[in-house]
Amino acid sequence: MATPLLSVVIPVYNEEDLIDTLVTRCSAALSAISADFEIICVDDGSRDQTLARLLAARTTEPRLKVLVLSRNFGHQAAYTAGLHAAQGEYVAMMDGDLQDPPEILPRMWELLRHDAHDVVYGHRTDRAEGWGRQLLIKGFHALFQNFSKLQEADNVGNFSMMNRRALTAFLSLQEKNRYLPGLRSFIGFRQASVAYSRAARPDGSVPKMSYKRLFALALDALFSFSDLPIKVCLYTGIFGILVFMLAGMYVLGSKIMGVALIGWSSLGLSLYFLGSIQLVFLGIMGEYVFRIYRENQNRPLYFVQHYYNE
Ligand code: UDP
Ligand code: MG
Repeated sequence: MATPLLSVVIPVYNEEDLIDTLVTRCSAALSAISADFEIICVDDGSRDQTLARLLAARTTEPRLKVLVLSRNFGHQAAYTAGLHAAQGEYVAMMDGDLQDPPEILPRMWELLRHDAHDVVYGHRTDRAEGWGRQLLIKGFHALFQNFSKLQEADNVGNFSMMNRRALTAFLSLQEKNRYLPGLRSFIGFRQASVAYSRAARPDGSVPKMSYKRLFALALDALFSFSDLPIKVCLYTGIFGILVFMLAGMYVLGSKIMGVALIGWSSLGLSLYFLGSIQLVFLGIMGEYVFRIYRENQNRPLYFVQHYYNE
């Protein structure tokens, strides 16, 4: 099998209603680049008709391939699975809910061709999502930019395209706690961005990434790309010592001046405060230990049930 020019990797999880539009729009957009492409939809353990729809779409679009995972592994793992399967000289990553418009792919390709850049990522100028979700995402990006020491542009996600050279570097990063936009920024090479506005989900359905999962992803990002959690512990500890010294001087001064000190309630409160802060910090340390443990277990990120690629 000859290697295609371009592979587009799309994770899908319970997206049955979007599959037909997704494949049609994607094929149409890619035809502007070349007829020589493959679309790899990674079915991340969907429980609805997603797989059936994908297989049906394969009859009209033979360049569509379907990688079925053995269960739901989460979309960062699904992307990684698809990237491993991708054969193309160039490889794109795109969400399957049409929030990343496939029509942007030709613009990304223009920046990559003739070896002009190695990585092109989508930069979201605005996003059509609930304000609560937007606010949280904005807050996360602000925090991440400040603490990650990565040259990551604000407001970038998975939507991107890269050449083989960059992909090889990207896939050589084998950590289990994966925040892909961070890893993509970490590899370096010549990167460029394309501005686009992030559409709402066309069917108005709820995102498949729950708040809980988004929060876990944000933690993955912060723990693997910054030392913020440790720094918070350290600085709080130092601040605590300063408070202790001031209070100590006050107590000592009062003793010398012969002023009687009463204050069982302040004593009780500060004991309670210190106790709970220590528990929180123990939790943060525990999180690090757990992450080290998980890396050590070295379990595969995903298992493949079947790859429909013929
Ligand atoms: N997705 C997935 N596995 C999951 C959750 C989501 O493959 O466990 C897919 C989903 O079908 C979509 C993409 O990943 O194509 C992004 O998910 P979503 O739209 O829920 O996330 P958000 O847009 O909020 O980042
Ligand atoms: Mg989405």
